[in-house]
Amino acid sequence: MTDLTDSKKEADCIFCKIIAGDIPSAKIHEDEEVFVFADINPVNLGHSLIIPKKHYTDISDTPDETLGKLIVTAKKIAEAIKKAVKADGINIEMNNGKAAGQIIFHSHIHVIPRFIDDGYRHWKGPEKTAEEIRGVAEKIRIEISNREL
Ligand code: AMP
Ligand code: ZN
Repeated sequence: MTDLTDSKKEADCIFCKIIAGDIPSAKIHEDEEVFVFADINPVNLGHSLIIPKKHYTDISDTPDETLGKLIVTAKKIAEAIKKAVKADGINIEMNNGKAAGQIIFHSHIHVIPRFIDDGYRHWKGPEKTAEEIRGVAEKIRIEISNREL
């Protein structure tokens, strides 16, 4: 079923167990590198998760090549979901770190079908000044100049 070696999966990771077939899932798609299945607690029906077969924690330790494969798969799955549930739009998102709402620490991308009247709204923080916004943009530019982008 899976060719994962022990070094590539985390002993207590729910998603590694799903890939291995030790925990049941509503599987949607599987290939050499990625596994796609229905979220058990969907925002809307059709909400799916795209995960790498190898265990990585989040975007930071997931290799670029794997991330590329994940996002391209997310794009294809998004089209299929859109048709299957007649969605008006799709959110593609990734939570990285506890503060960002990540609860399963096996890298994953959410593909969530959206409907004009589904009632969900994006969060909105308190207003920021133009000075604050520009100041942080400068800090980020400095960080970028310190590394290869
Ligand atoms: P995140 O907050 O980005 O870590 O999202 C983790 C997602 O995994 C949540 O949307 C959960 O509903 C989903 N989830 C947790 N356990 C399972 C499971 N056994 N099968 C399918 N989805 C799961
Ligand atoms: Zn895992």
